[in-house]
Amino acid sequence: MTSSLPLAARPAPTESNRSPDVPAPPAAVGPNVLGSIGRTPLLDLGRLAARAGLPSTTRLLGKAEQLNPGGSVKDRLAQALFAEAEARGLRPGGTVVEATSGNTGISLAIAAAVRGYRLEVVASRKVSSEKIRLLEVLGAHVTLTPDVPHGDPSHYLEVARRRAEEIPGAVYLDQFRSLANVKVHEESTGPELLHQALELGGRLDAFVCGVGTGGTLVGIARFLRRASPATRIVLADPEGSVLAHGGAFRSYRVEGIGDDSIPPLLTPGLVDGSVSVSDRDSFRFALLAARTEGLLVGGSSGCHLAAAAEIARDLPKGAVVATILSDTGRNYLSKFLDPAWCETHGLEGLHEEVRA
Ligand code: PMP
Repeated sequence: MTSSLPLAARPAPTESNRSPDVPAPPAAVGPNVLGSIGRTPLLDLGRLAARAGLPSTTRLLGKAEQLNPGGSVKDRLAQALFAEAEARGLRPGGTVVEATSGNTGISLAIAAAVRGYRLEVVASRKVSSEKIRLLEVLGAHVTLTPDVPHGDPSHYLEVARRRAEEIPGAVYLDQFRSLANVKVHEESTGPELLHQALELGGRLDAFVCGVGTGGTLVGIARFLRRASPATRIVLADPEGSVLAHGGAFRSYRVEGIGDDSIPPLLTPGLVDGSVSVSDRDSFRFALLAARTEGLLVGGSSGCHLAAAAEIARDLPKGAVVATILSDTGRNYLSKFLDPAWCETHGLEGLHEEVRA
């Protein structure tokens, strides 16, 4: 490859010649992409809040975890899971197995490529084809299972457990039971979020989040209970999931959060309230985030935002409510971000409604 511009002709940015709109470059050159995980911005979603009809003094804040290199909050977890497995004796060249709704697998695949591991992931067919393609591109071996209830032998958790037993020396990472999953958010995401919320809004009245494994919500909530006890912890749950209100499970289209049973990491008494959000409202808020804030986020982020707006509406004017933007909308281009898909999946007129 040739360059028409000699390197010497490009002045290095210095404090004096850098445009004020251009952020400072990273302090150091990193050895690999894993060093750019975390330290995500907390964004003040004022245009989205206005579109949702919130008072102008109410602040809706979103922690932009979709900006992690793997496109989701799960990049943080992957580092913690490998560190835990290495402490148990896993060595480069070894095989790790995990059950995932896609994002954990993508994050693990990035870490496995850099750290030199072989990765097998098991995912349900509910997972978007974009996420499956990314897993394969990143070198993971993917097994797909039917979208069946917990306990069914072909449920993705059961299949992953069996795969780990079949492969000699393989380590099952088990994000649904790993305490590292809670710890990483208690020690990194939670402190970052509170520090940023206080800087942006001067207070944090409520933190709203969904639960897949529960790592994100439980870890952040444990930190906030200690460091900001007045902050209310609110569970955002897709309609049909049993986490918010119990009852009979009904399948829904939002990926990554909610379930037909309570995940082991979700300790009782940790949440102060919950909001159930329909698929339509979840996807509507994700589309609104794109239209009003230029943010590409997935359906779980949409669910979080819809629930956060609902909570903010019930709080006094001037309240500050924060939530997590869990993954990138690029994972769903063939699903709810495609108007034709919406028309054939019970979401008629959704894109027109958002454009109006
Ligand atoms: N949103 C998306 C898109 C996810 O993939 C996940 C993880 N399943 C979550 C939210 C929930 O994160 P956690 O597992 O930490 O509860």
